[in-house]
Amino acid sequence: MKVNVMSDILKANDLLAQDIKEMLKKKQIVSWNIMGSPGSGKTSILERLIPMLPGDVKAAVIEGDLATSRDAERIAKTGVQSTQINTQGACHLDAAMVRTALEKIDLDDISILFIENVGNLICPAGFSLGETGRIIVSSITEGDDKPEKYPSMFKNAHVVLLNKIDLKSQTNFRIDNFTREMKKINPQADIMQISATNGSGFTELVNWVVGRLL
Ligand code: MG
Ligand code: ZN
Repeated sequence: MKVNVMSDILKANDLLAQDIKEMLKKKQIVSWNIMGSPGSGKTSILERLIPMLPGDVKAAVIEGDLATSRDAERIAKTGVQSTQINTQGACHLDAAMVRTALEKIDLDDISILFIENVGNLICPAGFSLGETGRIIVSSITEGDDKPEKYPSMFKNAHVVLLNKIDLKSQTNFRIDNFTREMKKINPQADIMQISATNGSGFTELVNWVVGRLL
């Protein structure tokens, strides 16, 4: 019984996500579902990345959190449209929440939509938001075993951002371990070493994002 209820929920979500995907595609908007643990640096990455985008590339951001509009306020300071979803306790975004948030965004003005999911390595992976692709943020301080422990999160990533690379010497994180496990789970994913604190790797990240505009 429980299993059937869950599969119905996911089916309904997938149908709605498909509508969102088609609508964004018609408007030539590329959308990225950004996922990762709380504190991995998702918002900080967007704060640094967005001002580095070329002037003619306009972005908007949907921020998902259980509570507060802190992250949307941080993003708004970069000058882009920024909308907060509060999930009222739910530990992931779903397509219905995104559809509601999209009503507040002027979609004719943008070519990229970033959707920052709730910080969580588990259930956000199961809910399509109609995104073009997935950006997974995994920080050095979380350890190099995350792809093995949370394969469903890493399986469908288009890129994995290894954030906080500036702290590497203070941890026992092994890039080779992380990369080897990623190759087993998802050999197509790009892996980039970045630091939202000092900006290293961001020129490469901007090029990656700009190279995937529709
Ligand atoms: Mg955040
Ligand atoms: Zn959840």
